[in-house]
Amino acid sequence: MAELIDLLEDVEQIQPGVHFHNLIGQDRVKDVLSRAATTGRIAHAYLFLGEVGSGKEAAALDFARILLCMSEGDRKGQRSAALPCGKCDSCVQTEKLTHPGFKVLFPQPKPQPPKEGQDGVDAVEQYTAAQRKQMDALMAAKADDYYTSLSVSGGNEILIEHIRALRSEFRLTSYSGGWRVVLISQADRLRVQAANAFLKLLEEPPANVVFILTSSRESRLLPTILSRCQVLRFARIDQDTLRDELIARLKVKPDKADAAARLADGSWKQAVDWARGDPAKETMKVVELLRDLLRGDPGRLDELVDYWGAASRSGDFAGMLERMAHWLRDVQTYDADPSSAKELARDEHLVKFATFTEGRNFEDALDAIDEARLDIERHVQTTLIAYNLFSTLRKVLFRPKGK
Ligand SMILES: [Zn+2]
Repeated sequence: MAELIDLLEDVEQIQPGVHFHNLIGQDRVKDVLSRAATTGRIAHAYLFLGEVGSGKEAAALDFARILLCMSEGDRKGQRSAALPCGKCDSCVQTEKLTHPGFKVLFPQPKPQPPKEGQDGVDAVEQYTAAQRKQMDALMAAKADDYYTSLSVSGGNEILIEHIRALRSEFRLTSYSGGWRVVLISQADRLRVQAANAFLKLLEEPPANVVFILTSSRESRLLPTILSRCQVLRFARIDQDTLRDELIARLKVKPDKADAAARLADGSWKQAVDWARGDPAKETMKVVELLRDLLRGDPGRLDELVDYWGAASRSGDFAGMLERMAHWLRDVQTYDADPSSAKELARDEHLVKFATFTEGRNFEDALDAIDEARLDIERHVQTTLIAYNLFSTLRKVLFRPKGK
């Protein structure tokens, strides 16, 4: 303990607010990671758990910037309060996600198998030009906005080939001072084989390598992974922080920022989404869709499936589903006890809608929406997702009771 106090006195504390400038809210996480960087007591593997849009990857990237900055010498792995400097080559490269000591793994499509005589070629080299272009564009978008989701078409799992490539890279290249950071995004998509390869890597941890795994689906993580990492939980971001950051970062007008922060469910991504669109109009789109389902005209159902199932609209579809889940949770709250849901009772659309869905099983409806959101991420064919979801919602929400 005395030793720890010495360390803390010796090195000025990293200031969480200043040095995690991309991460929004999450003061406790900033605090833990700042302390780790300041003292040099850094875990081999972290697991960041939290809802989509809570800032897990933004935290990982900010943490990487602190660890990788080369503006001054490392003292026994400790980082001083001045880092990251934002100016050195390391900082510039990390910011652009091109730092050689910083790797990002995320669910990617399986590459073509090597052609004859191509043994030993890096798995990454096997992607088609179009696939590579798509992934490069994604990384550029991520560098531009740390809250961008790492999702590409056909990317269903984190490939064992990529874990193996990491392993051989760490074995071959010698440690030349400084840290190396590996971000494994959506670690719940490590299937058994890839997870085992990763655990092997963790058993004999390469020097000065920090693994940061992220996941929004704790229940889908393999227990062996969970037990090997230091877990940090990301809370929902509070409304005041979301509101203030929308105003400060995106120059959103206060009224709109207020509304967006309220609707965002503690997610920065959702807050931005709401702030960029027109919340009232977007909500009406959802209500109209549900009304159409309620009317039950089969021709209209086909039209809706065609519209929302268009592959080019999958981003809008995902956003719409988030809004739909939000709206149905409000209806559910009102349905459970209209007299105590005073604010909701002022919304005439909601009250009218609730008369059609009185006492229905909202949990089943919300589960179906969740499943659909997951399917979009898995790149299941969107017309199929739309058809299944809309049929289920109609059954669950609008079928008269007892039938
Ligand atoms: Zn620097």
